[in-house]
Amino acid sequence: MPELRRDILTGDWRIVDTGSFEKLPDENPETCPLCPGNEHLTDSEIMSFRLNGLADEPGWFIRVVPSKNPILQFSQVERKGVGMYDQINNKGANEIVVVTPEHGKRMSELPPHQMADVLWAYQKRIIDLKRDSAIKEILIYHLENSSTGHSRSHIFGLPVIDPNLGKILTESRRHYASKERCLTCDIVREENKTAERIIYENENFIAFLPYAPSKNYSVIITPKKHSAFFENFISPQNASDLAGIILDILKRYEVVFNHFPWSFVLYTAPNMAGRSSEHQWLTLADDFHWFIEFLPSIDSPMSNFHRLTGICTTVETPEEQAKILREAKIY
Ligand SMILES: [Zn+2]
Ligand SMILES: [Zn+2]
Repeated sequence: MPELRRDILTGDWRIVDTGSFEKLPDENPETCPLCPGNEHLTDSEIMSFRLNGLADEPGWFIRVVPSKNPILQFSQVERKGVGMYDQINNKGANEIVVVTPEHGKRMSELPPHQMADVLWAYQKRIIDLKRDSAIKEILIYHLENSSTGHSRSHIFGLPVIDPNLGKILTESRRHYASKERCLTCDIVREENKTAERIIYENENFIAFLPYAPSKNYSVIITPKKHSAFFENFISPQNASDLAGIILDILKRYEVVFNHFPWSFVLYTAPNMAGRSSEHQWLTLADDFHWFIEFLPSIDSPMSNFHRLTGICTTVETPEEQAKILREAKIY
């Protein structure tokens, strides 16, 4: 059972014992739990967009289900000390957004209207999950492998703020406190001056490489107008523009990296209902600016989830890994 544990040296939360949640579902459409006709192989759907049929029947074109191998799931939040260490049980949500009924179709191959519908599904789930004050952060993570499989995104509702978002929130708040301007709005203005790092833009969004990237070829997509909450920004025009720029970047990745695996993470502002006090995130709506970060897997065997969010995960607990090492027959 996965656990959130706090590393007391760095203050970062980590997830141990995840199993292998990035694992592909069944390669065979006959037995793939995400294919139409196999709805009985998943838990009951949370929502779907469909042409016809009832819940948990074929006829859908986007379907959201609970993860079969969740790293977080709903239960009572339970914070406890284990000796000198802090631990939270795996309260939270881990849902799967099946972005197409077609097995083996890559997200980059989706028609723009289908990609826009994926964004509407993200929006609906974020709004719903934010009704739970135990959830502090919602993040959306998508990993696309080069081998065939069923394209799907993970939605995580976390009871803590991940290390990457935590640092961005701190820097954004600091910048706003001294300049009364949003940090990302300033970055977008600066990038527009030279356009050297801009990949593509349309009326409402811009895609660029960061000035000082920590990863090779990571690309940021963000709205040109200030917006802290993805779920409030999505409108018919904005969903269409965002779908267009996402598909543009994915197609470039697939050409340049020859269908390497790639990932993205979508960060919206944290859950205001989950504030630890009324003094927390007072300027959030003005200082934070939502964005999506894309990353190809070209230079590291490390999990892209860890590289994008800063959340370290281990497949087993350190206690189990210590046992494996202790019991190794050495000569
Ligand atoms: Zn499938
Ligand atoms: Zn802004």
